[in-house]
Formats: sequence, C-alpha cells, structure tokens
Amino acid sequence: MRELFIECADCGWREPYQKPWSACPECGRGWLDARYDYEEVRLKWDAELARRPFTMWRYRELLPLRDDAHLITMGEGGTPLYPATNLCMMLGRPHIYVKDERQGPTGSFKDRQASLAISAMKENGITEAVLASTGNVAISYSAYSAHAGIKLWAFLTSAVPAEKMREVALYGSEVVKVTGTYDQTKQVAAEFARRKDLHYDRGIRSIAVKESMKTLAFELAEQLGQILGPAPDAQDAPWRAPDWYIQSVSGGMGPVGVWKGFEELLAMGLVTHMPKLACVQVEGCAPMVHSFRAELEEAEPVLNPQTLITTIATGRPGPAYPFLRRVILENGGTFEMVSDEEAFRAMHVMAKMDGISMEPAAAVAFAALFKMVSQGIVKPDDVVVVDCSGHTFPVEKFLLGDDWARSVEVAAKTEAAPLPQEEGLLASLERLDRRVQRIAILEDDPDATRLLRRVLQAHGEYQIDEAYDGEAGLEVVRRASPDLILLDLMMPKLDGFEVLEALKADEQLQDIPVIVVTARTLTPHERKRLSDRTHILLQKGSFLSDELLEDIDAVLG
Ligand SMILES: *Cc1c(COP(=O)(O)O)cnc(C)c1O
Ligand SMILES: [Zn+2]
Repeated sequence: MRELFIECADCGWREPYQKPWSACPECGRGWLDARYDYEEVRLKWDAELARRPFTMWRYRELLPLRDDAHLITMGEGGTPLYPATNLCMMLGRPHIYVKDERQGPTGSFKDRQASLAISAMKENGITEAVLASTGNVAISYSAYSAHAGIKLWAFLTSAVPAEKMREVALYGSEVVKVTGTYDQTKQVAAEFARRKDLHYDRGIRSIAVKESMKTLAFELAEQLGQILGPAPDAQDAPWRAPDWYIQSVSGGMGPVGVWKGFEELLAMGLVTHMPKLACVQVEGCAPMVHSFRAELEEAEPVLNPQTLITTIATGRPGPAYPFLRRVILENGGTFEMVSDEEAFRAMHVMAKMDGISMEPAAAVAFAALFKMVSQGIVKPDDVVVVDCSGHTFPVEKFLLGDDWARSVEVAAKTEAAPLPQEEGLLASLERLDRRVQRIAILEDDPDATRLLRRVLQAHGEYQIDEAYDGEAGLEVVRRASPDLILLDLMMPKLDGFEVLEALKADEQLQDIPVIVVTARTLTPHERKRLSDRTHILLQKGSFLSDELLEDIDAVLG
C-alpha cells in the first residue's frame, strides 16, 4: 500500500497520515480529507474483495487507520439492502430500497463512525475522551469505548429521551445532562474537555466521520449492482449508484460521507454516475432547508429547535451545509423537511406495511420520500435508496396513544389451577377480537389483494372476504353482505363496471358502499359510469395505507 495522505481543502496543507487531526494545523480551519491511490485500490479490490467478510472493514484500503492492531470492530456496517415491497406497491415506485442501518451493533448508522473513530483514538493512545451528542453517537461511542478500554464523557441535551441516556450509562460512560440546545451542549462539552485537557471528538470536523460514512456508499453500490445488475451505461463498472439517496440529517455527516464515497467509486470506475442527494430535516429544526431555499451560502442557525425528534435537532449545521448545498446545486438533489406528525405517520406505515420499525429520526427520511413521490420529484423508474438510520426506541408511549393493547383478567384461584371456564372469561376472550365490520375485496391481482388485506389487517377491526373475479365477487357479496366493497375494475368474467350494474339492480345490495381501486386513469365516460355508484376512486400505486384507511372511515362513517 502506498502512503495515505491527509490534506486541507481550504489552504492545501498536506502530509502523510499520522493522526486524526480535527482541524488543519496550518490554517486552523476544519475541512480535512484523506487521499488515497485509487488505481491501486481498484486492482486490489477486483482481486480480493469477493472473499472478504461483509462488514465496513472490507473496504479497509480506503479507511484511514495506520495499523490493524488498533482496530475496534463489532461487525458494524455490512447492513442489508432490500426492497420495501409493500411501499413500492403503494407508491407505484418499483425500486425503493431500504439500507437497513438499524442492524448495526447499537442499532444506528453511527456504529460505522464509532468503529473508525474509537480505533483512531486507540491508535493515538487516547484513554479518555469527551463528546456531545443528540443520543445515538453517545450510545455507539460508549459501546465501542467500552470495547477499547476508553473512558467516555457523554454530554447530552436534557431533551434526549431517558431511554437513550440510560443506555449510555449502562455502557459505563459518564452521562452529563445539559439543559439547553444541542449547540450549547457542544460548547459546554468542548469547554470541559479543554479544562481537563481531554480529547474532544469534533464530529463532522474529524476525519473519521466522513471517511467511515463513505462505506455506506460502497456497500449500497455493491449491493445494488448485485440486485439490479450494472447500470445501462455500465462499460466495465460492475457496481451501481442509485438515482436518489435519501437520509435524514442534523449535522449532515451521513450524506457528506456518502457523497465522498461515490466520488471515490466514480474515480475507481466502479459506478457510472453520482446519485442525487435528498437531505431531510424536521420542520421544527430545519436550518439547512430554510437556508437553501433562501439561497444562503452559509446556514442560518435555528436557535430554538421545536421538535420531539431530538436525535436530529442540530440548530447549527456547520460546514456540512455549504458542502451539501454545492453538491445539490451542481448535481441535482434536494433539501426537504417534514413535520413531526408526518414522521410519526411514516413510522406507522413502514412498521405496519413492511415490518420495519424505526426511530422517528429515521422515519423522517421516509416521510420525505412520500412527499417526493407525490410531488413527482421521484420518477416511476428511479432507483431510490432510503437510509433507515436507526432503530425504534420506546417513544411508542406517545405514538400509540392508550388503546394499543388488549387485556384479559384471569381470576384463577391458584397458578396451578386450570383456567376457569367461566362465562366471563369466555366472553372477554370473544371480545378480544373486535372485528366488527366486514369488507369484501374484489380484485384479481394477488399482489394487490395482499396489499389491501395487509392494510385492513393492520387496522385490526375488519373481517375480510376476498374474491378474484367479478362472478365470484358477487357471490361473496351476497353471502357475506359486507359493510363495504373494495372493487377492482379490470377483472375476468365480470369486470368492475358489470359488478356495479349487478349491485345496483339488486335491492339487497344496492346500498353497500363501494371504493373503486384502479390501476389506470379512467376516461371521462368511464368516470361518469362510476359517479353515481362509487364513493371513492383510488389509483393503485399512489396511495399510502393510512390514506386508504381514512377513506374507509369516511365511507363507513
Ligand atoms: C445521527 C442520526 C441522524 C442524522 O445524521 P447526521 O449525519 O448527523 O446528520 C439521522 N438518523 C439517526 C437515527 C441518527 O442517529
Ligand atoms: Zn488549512
């Protein structure tokens, strides 16, 4: 391996990599980059990569650590990339992939950063360090410092949920709660480190952060290449960049690193293009979004963040903003924001429809995807990767309200006694199933049926009957007399229009409300045929589960 260099983007200072500088020793500013010999790396990867384990350290040549002996690893990175199947169907976008960063050792993508940063601390003989965090960095660094034998002081804003703070403490770090914003917390932590002469982790300004986040780009490009094959214009580039990479940001370290990763892949000829970045913030703390829209070159800080999603409440984004702004202006991409409510709603949709339970800070990215699809920013054929940046933590308290569990009282005399077969118990077991309304799904496409069934099941209150053609559908309707019919228009035997005619002609059935679910845009004539019989028209591939449920609620009153 030829020598690894570190250089300053501001003044051009450069030297062989010795230690993880957090600011340029020449000009004092903070945008340092590691430089590698990409030709050499490409040759080595072509020869060896396939045999290496799938963790972030498989890209070792492009990670700045001098000696493997200092490596602190717990299997970080190497997270799966998979399609969000039901979401793809709901939104009519077949290529939405989830990069599942929940599966890191402490449940967030910060584990990549912690592994490299703590290894670098070890390499430089640091045994005690200070950081400020909105939660997940503290958790992850605490785990890795425990592993490395480093004592950590974690300064957290008092708004960080207690569950996260307890986890930091469990790993043996000193937890310091600061009543103030995250930016104030950072100042307090830095001052503490200065007074005690301890190493202070400077987040985005440290080499380790950007360099570790690159591995997200490497992995997902390698994975997309396997799933989709090389890009149409591939030449000899075996990997593949998505059209969109969406991530929620506070400091913006994720997308900054991902961008650098794709630049390196491009330099090595492994991909053919750069993705567009979507950097998403939450409305109550969206300095980057506001500054971008106001065409500001430096971010205007938000001094008093107003959001429950503290994980990404960084009011003063620092050097990532001008970098991301430039990238997005030059290459396309967007800064988006969503409300807390939109993020919580996205959490419900992703958990109920695709089985992916994430923390609100991660759901912010999915909520933005929903917006970008409905605004036509994400096109039907776009390949989209959404970073599912962290796992659920117990905020469910306010997410689910009070009515989320069912209980049964068993008045058994002793624990060993058999369950009493009393009327009361049986009746209460009966009541556990509160499916009071019946809905018939008349739909010939099994995937669409599965999706609709799943939407209704997750709601819990509907008894579902299904039929796969118009004739069978009418039979089901006669037999089950449902409270509502979900009707596809294109079906064998009798199509949807004919089913509607038949319902209309039957006195018993003519009052059952119908929601038509169709895959295509209707002609004015067809619309007219539907208008007197149908309550709502739903376009397949352009609704979310909760929108359908709202429509159903509206119809059933
Ligand atoms: C840290 C974090 C973010 C924001 O990432 P930055 O790169 O710091 O902007 C988003 N989601 C989760 C779960 C995080 O822990
Ligand atoms: Zn410099």
